[in-house]
Amino acid sequence: MSTESLGELAAELIACRRCRRLVEWREHVAANKRAAFVGDEYWGKPVPGFGDPDARLVVIGLAPAAHGANRTGRMFTGDRSGEWLYRALHRAGFASQASSTDVGDGMVLDDAWITAPVRCVPPKNRPTPAERDNCASWFNAELDLLEKAQVFVALGEFGYRSTWRYLSGRQGEEKRPKFTHGLELDLGKITLLTSYHVSQQNTFTGRLTEGMLDDVFTTAARLLSTNTN
Ligand code: SF4
Repeated sequence: MSTESLGELAAELIACRRCRRLVEWREHVAANKRAAFVGDEYWGKPVPGFGDPDARLVVIGLAPAAHGANRTGRMFTGDRSGEWLYRALHRAGFASQASSTDVGDGMVLDDAWITAPVRCVPPKNRPTPAERDNCASWFNAELDLLEKAQVFVALGEFGYRSTWRYLSGRQGEEKRPKFTHGLELDLGKITLLTSYHVSQQNTFTGRLTEGMLDDVFTTAARLLSTNTN
């Protein structure tokens, strides 16, 4: 892939139809709207990364949510998971506002970029390994273009594994530390932090609290403030 800018990459990405199952599913969800959003026009396409192209902080999720990013067309926008994430980013000084409802809400990220290893909504939030591998070229190309990135925050094990693979290559798989919340891995130019995913499965059950998420972004901000690279 020889894309020169994040904008060009996004323009190519949104036309991608590489994964037949996910193309069908994203379009099925878009055509079968949740009652609360019946008046909305769903995006129903691959979702590009979002944020500050000069970001030093990169936040990595899993894939678009059916009635969140697959509806609004912006990462983590328009659902409960996103409310948690953007509130935390706002408290940490990376987001201009706490509320992220739609692409016209005025949200601006400062020094932060949000992305995911898989760009089309998967059934039951579970992409297959083949779908993950299909999408890796988009994920890797985007991370390559974020030339100032210094701290990656992986939300959940899927994002962690994909980020590790990007940073270390397949040959480094066996060296990957076991996923848990709160890892801080110094990988040279990049520090990789981990958090439980902001999914309702974790936030409703108290597995992930706002305090725990704040600690991760406080660590990220501290690392960025002391990093002279
Ligand atoms: Fe293309 Fe990725 Fe969507 Fe598959 S998941 S169709 S590779 S954008």
